[in-house]
Amino acid sequence: MFVTNDPYSDPDFNSSVDKKTGYVTKSVMVLPVADVNGEYIGAFQLINKLSGGFDIEEDSRKLSLPALILGLALESDTFLDDAHHDRLTKLKNRIGFYSDFSRKYMKYLEADCDKPLSMFICDIDKFKMVNDTYGHNAGDQVLEHAAKLLLGSCEENENAYRWGGEEFIILMPDTTLEQAVAKAEKLRKEIEASEFPADGVMIHKTMSFGVHTFVKGKSIEENVSMADVHLYTAKETGRNKVVYTKE
Ligand code: GH3
Ligand code: MG
Ligand code: MG
Repeated sequence: MFVTNDPYSDPDFNSSVDKKTGYVTKSVMVLPVADVNGEYIGAFQLINKLSGGFDIEEDSRKLSLPALILGLALESDTFLDDAHHDRLTKLKNRIGFYSDFSRKYMKYLEADCDKPLSMFICDIDKFKMVNDTYGHNAGDQVLEHAAKLLLGSCEENENAYRWGGEEFIILMPDTTLEQAVAKAEKLRKEIEASEFPADGVMIHKTMSFGVHTFVKGKSIEENVSMADVHLYTAKETGRNKVVYTKE
């Protein structure tokens, strides 16, 4: 814990916020913020513009409860962020997909929304062979590289998700089926031409794509499985291709 009732004579005090806002800081108190294990994960800083200053004993006792609550909030926010992301590829995972859907994309499934929401689900072809031939680390590197290419292809309002294993989804709001197919095709070619690092060697991989524009009145799961049917067809008919149903 740290308290100063004369910040302007403290060489560590940064007065730039005061200068910008016109606030005159008369005293500062900083309380450590800990996680449930007691490890420090942050700081709770209070600034005061009234004269009189902080009372170290009384104020720190009063503020220890808010500091504790802040620690829990900070920690659960970190947990939530971890829960929504895949550690290997850093992409959002399936939980992140559903969370984004309920926060941002649900409106696209409502009858009165006239904007199309498109997606594709894509899967690395013969990925198991990478693990079997070059080892699991190589497989992980191939997944990371694929994720980078997919995320790199996303426009500002689009997002890529690791749906599971070597399967990914890209969600594209305000995008027609035709535009989504063009994007998938461009990405398919880019992946085909790319060199994937695989534990010391560079290899080539391809991916198959199922493209779909969300059908209003159907659930998220139903829509994803419609895209999945196209992906399955792509696999069944030779891989390294983009499959969709013409509107
Ligand atoms: P297909 O062309 O039909 O998609 O064949 P495939 O070999 O890509 O598909 P399959 O489903 O047979 O194999 C997927 C493999 O992906 C099996 C699983 O062990 C591996 N896998 C899943 N997650 C990971 C991961 O995080 N890291 C690594 N290295 N392998 C993974
Ligand atoms: Mg595969
Ligand atoms: Mg798969």
